[in-house]
Amino acid sequence: MKRALLSVSDKTGLVAFAKGLVALGYELVSTGGTLKTLADAGLAPIPIDEVTGFPEMLDGRVKTLHPRVHAGLLARRDLAAHMDKLVEFDITPIDLVVVNLYPFKATIQKPDVTEAQAIENIDIGGPSMLRSAAKNFASVLAVTDPIDYDTVLDKLQTQTADLAFHKYLAKKVFQHTAAYDALIAAYLTDEQFPEQLTPTFELFEPMRYGENPFQKAAAYRSAIPEAYSIFSSKILHGKQLSYNNIRDADAVLRMIAEFEAPTVVTVKHMNPAGIGQGETIEAAWDRAFAADPVSIFGGIVALNRPVDVATAEKMHDIFLEVIIAPEYSDAAYEILAQKKNLRILQLPFTTDIPQKIELTAVLGGVVAQERDLTHEELSDLKVVSKVQPTAEQLKTMVFAQKAVKHVKSNAIVVAKAGQTLGIGAGQPNRIDSVNYAIKNALKVTTDLSDAVLASDAFFPFDDSVAYAAEHGISAVVEPGGSIKDQASIDKADELGIVLVFSGNRHFRH
Ligand code: 5GP
Repeated sequence: MKRALLSVSDKTGLVAFAKGLVALGYELVSTGGTLKTLADAGLAPIPIDEVTGFPEMLDGRVKTLHPRVHAGLLARRDLAAHMDKLVEFDITPIDLVVVNLYPFKATIQKPDVTEAQAIENIDIGGPSMLRSAAKNFASVLAVTDPIDYDTVLDKLQTQTADLAFHKYLAKKVFQHTAAYDALIAAYLTDEQFPEQLTPTFELFEPMRYGENPFQKAAAYRSAIPEAYSIFSSKILHGKQLSYNNIRDADAVLRMIAEFEAPTVVTVKHMNPAGIGQGETIEAAWDRAFAADPVSIFGGIVALNRPVDVATAEKMHDIFLEVIIAPEYSDAAYEILAQKKNLRILQLPFTTDIPQKIELTAVLGGVVAQERDLTHEELSDLKVVSKVQPTAEQLKTMVFAQKAVKHVKSNAIVVAKAGQTLGIGAGQPNRIDSVNYAIKNALKVTTDLSDAVLASDAFFPFDDSVAYAAEHGISAVVEPGGSIKDQASIDKADELGIVLVFSGNRHFRH
C-alpha cells in the first residue's frame, strides 16, 4: 500500500484530492488541522503522532520533524541498503507529500502584525518535508500547489511514473521554499543596504512581448508590496499594460509624486513631455498639454487630483496610452472609457515614496542603489551671481529642479512658473541638451525673459550660461561643483543674468 502524508495550511481542494488518493489505494497520514478537515469529510487518516511515536509538541513547532518521516521520504528505493534500514527500524516509506506552508506572507501583510506573530508563521517542518520529498523526486511526489492536484491524480492513474513530472514538481518545491526563505530574510533584515540585499519578486503577469515585439517578457512585483506603485494601481479600463507602459507609468508616478499643487505630468519614453501646474487640475492639464502638444501623442499621463469632466473631455481629444489619477468622477470616467484601448488606472496620490533599494541589470549581474528621493528645497539654493533672483525665479527654479531630476541625462529643463517649456534629454553633450530645451521652449513662447533654465549636473564650461543668456533666459540653476564653476559665474555676471547652485546632482541613466 502506498502512503501519502498531507499537512497543509491552505486547505483549498484538499478533500477532493485526498479522496482521489484513497480511491487510488493510498493510505493517508496527517497533522492536526489537516486531519480534522479530512475527518470532517469522512476520511480516516493516520495521525502523525502514531507514525512518529511522539506527540505534536511546542505549539506545533515540532510535528513532523522526525526520522520516521524523513527517512520514509528520503530512502532511495533503488538501494537495498536504504530499504533494509527502513525495515530494520520499522519505518514505512512515504510516496507522496502534500504540503503547503504557514502563510508567512499573508501574516506580514496584516496591519499591526507583531514580530512574534510573524515568527510563529515561519514554517519549519513543512519546507523540510517538501525538500526531502523533492530531493528524492525519483521515487517521491512533492506536491505544494493545489493547482497541481488534478494533474497528480491523472498521472497516478497511469501505472508508469512520469519522471519529468516528478522533476517538475521538485523544481516547483525548491523555487517555492527559496522564495519563502528569501521573504523571511527580507522581513527580518528590513532590506539593510548593501550587504543584506535579499531581492524577492513574484510573477505579476506574463506579457505579450517586451520593449520590442521579438523580445519575450514578464513583469514581476516585489513580494513585499508597495502601496504607491504601478502594481498596486487598479486598472479600471483598457488593455493589459505592456512592458513599455509599465516602465513609462512607473516614470510618471515618480514624477507626479514631486508636486503638491494640482499638477499634470505627461511622459514619453520615460522622459517628461510636459509638466503643468494650475489652480485646478484642468488648468494644470492645459499647461502640461501646451508645454508640448506634439510629443504628448501616444503619451502616459498622471494627475494628482480627481479627474473632472472638463479635463476628461480635453484628454479624450487626443490619443493617450495610459492615464493615472487618484479618482475619476463618474461622468469623467464615462468620457474616457469611450476609448476601447486607453488604460485608465486609479492609484491614491502621495508625495511620500519610501526609501528602498532598486536594481538595474547589467550583463552578468545587477547594480543596486537607493532611490533618489532628494526633496528640492528653496533653502538648498545658493545664489552665486551678482544679479539676485526674484522670489518668483527662485520658486520656478525649485519647480524646474524637480522636473530635471526625472529627465534622462544630460538633462536640461527650461520652465516658467508652473510649466515646463522645453526639455532637452539624453544628449551625450550637455550643450546639445541646452540647445534642444531652448529650441523647444521657443516653440511654446517667443519670450523667455521670465523663464529659468535648470541642469541636472554642473556645466563643465561657460558655454551653457552664454547660450541661455543669448536666447533671453535670465536665470539659470545648476548643481555646481565643476572645477570650471568660476568660468560660468563670470559669464553670468558678464551677461547680467542670475546663476544659482542647487548642490544636488541628479544623473538619470
Ligand atoms: P495542520 O493544520 O495540519 O495542523 O498543520 C499544517 C501545517 O503545518 C502545514 O503548513 C505544514 O507545512 C506545517 N508543518 C508540518 N509539520 C511541521 C513541523 O514539524 N513544524 C512546523 N513548524 N510546521 C509544520
